[in-house]
Amino acid sequence: MEIQIKGFLETSLLDWPGKLTAVLFLPGCNFRCPYCHNHSLVIHPERFETIPLEYILMRLKGLKGWIDGVCVTGGEPTLTPQLPLLLEEIKNEGWAIKLDTNGTFPDRIKELIERNLVDCVAMDIKAPLDSIAYSRCAGVSVDIPVIRKSISVLGNGGVDYSFRMTVVPSLLTEEQVYEAALQLVGMRGLLLQDFNPSDPLGPGLRGIEPFGEMRLQRMQERVDAIVGQRGDSYSQPTTRGRGYPLQRMNSSIGRRL
Ligand code: SF4
Repeated sequence: MEIQIKGFLETSLLDWPGKLTAVLFLPGCNFRCPYCHNHSLVIHPERFETIPLEYILMRLKGLKGWIDGVCVTGGEPTLTPQLPLLLEEIKNEGWAIKLDTNGTFPDRIKELIERNLVDCVAMDIKAPLDSIAYSRCAGVSVDIPVIRKSISVLGNGGVDYSFRMTVVPSLLTEEQVYEAALQLVGMRGLLLQDFNPSDPLGPGLRGIEPFGEMRLQRMQERVDAIVGQRGDSYSQPTTRGRGYPLQRMNSSIGRRL
């Protein structure tokens, strides 16, 4: 079966701190976070053409010596049944791989780590680990033990990892952010990412004022103090967080083909 790769960005400085990487986008997601910016990819993946893996591997070959690795994001990549196969193909070409996930399939994450198919995993933490807050931020009912299991898989997995949280004033209070930080004590930090009000999935979030850089920085300092470690220093929201215009990526790829 063809692997449904719906977006390909050849270079990004935003998706793996300190590295220049290519980014692959896989479709679909089991969450419906109201602040999601990749909602077209989540809800209407059929609107994007599928980019052949052979083409991507060929382009990656040409990027050898220029980029440091490949980020696989979405949507939720662990929903793609052929994800291990995809990662294997990329690994066979000698690339380091970072995977973005919402952490709802801990056993799949564990398997990828055990098979050495990922070098780094970035997991979203949507809210403190209580089902009401978490489900509100994820837009669907969330099984908290599953999220806890993914956190523990990463903590024990012997692979580089990071946690990040998108903070939306109407969905999370500052106190809830610190509560989540408290639940991650001993882990490798929690990076806060400000909410971008342009074109979120939930129309109710349009026009909501984000926390803003200064307040977010102050919150990050407190989170770092609570967790006991700094969150990875992404200077801006990741490509996934910004909602890169996939249509544009795909049409430019179409021209090169
Ligand atoms: S923000 Fe991430 S986890 Fe949430 S719906 Fe969008 S892709 Fe899924």
